[in-house]
Amino acid sequence: MGQTKQEEEYGYDLFPERNAGKYKKGSVAESLLTFNHKCQVMLQLAVETSPYAKLLLGAMKNSGCTVFKDRHFACEDCDGTVSGGFDAATSQIVLCQNNIHQQSHMNRVVTHELIHAFDHCRAHVDWFNNFRHLACSEIRAANLSGDCSFSNEVARFHFGMKQHHQECVRGRALRSILAVRKINRQAAEKIVDEVFDTCFNDHAPFGRIPHGKKDAKFAHRDYENRNRYYANL
Ligand SMILES: [Zn+2]
Repeated sequence: MGQTKQEEEYGYDLFPERNAGKYKKGSVAESLLTFNHKCQVMLQLAVETSPYAKLLLGAMKNSGCTVFKDRHFACEDCDGTVSGGFDAATSQIVLCQNNIHQQSHMNRVVTHELIHAFDHCRAHVDWFNNFRHLACSEIRAANLSGDCSFSNEVARFHFGMKQHHQECVRGRALRSILAVRKINRQAAEKIVDEVFDTCFNDHAPFGRIPHGKKDAKFAHRDYENRNRYYANL
């Protein structure tokens, strides 16, 4: 359908995605819309099919922090190679549409950021002033999101699997902190080490470290059954 003058006057041009047809093929505007659309589709698939995401969304709901896809997620272009972020000020999860190209990556980013959102919901996290809080949530997100599972598959022939997983979680948490805060490496390492054992062993709401999708499915099933059990009391 072609856009008429009248539609323009009614402000329809404020919603460019409704008129995607008017952009020339190959234009910058079109590729941005495509990125955004693809991001939305992958996000939808993640929240509907990833057992990690489903478990976390259920846990958020039970903690009184129901997540609404349109309100709490935003697909945006980001700088550098950043994949996502959690904006504590608005309780919004940012998904970097220009850096996420695969569904498995989307699932991991959604899960990682939902763990931050879960921590934000259940505890009064002081993201900006208390580096221990930030470090703890980054350790949990790296440990429980599957961020360290793929490399595990590759490296389990070379290292003891358990030790490798811990090293991976520690390294990722450290990188995340250094990326968002002005703090030197030594200070960040000290903070991560101080809180590591406590936060690495805090598996809420999974009840275990989900090493892979199958594990996450079991964790999700157990979580649902647990709630059923409580509901009968
Ligand atoms: Zn993080």
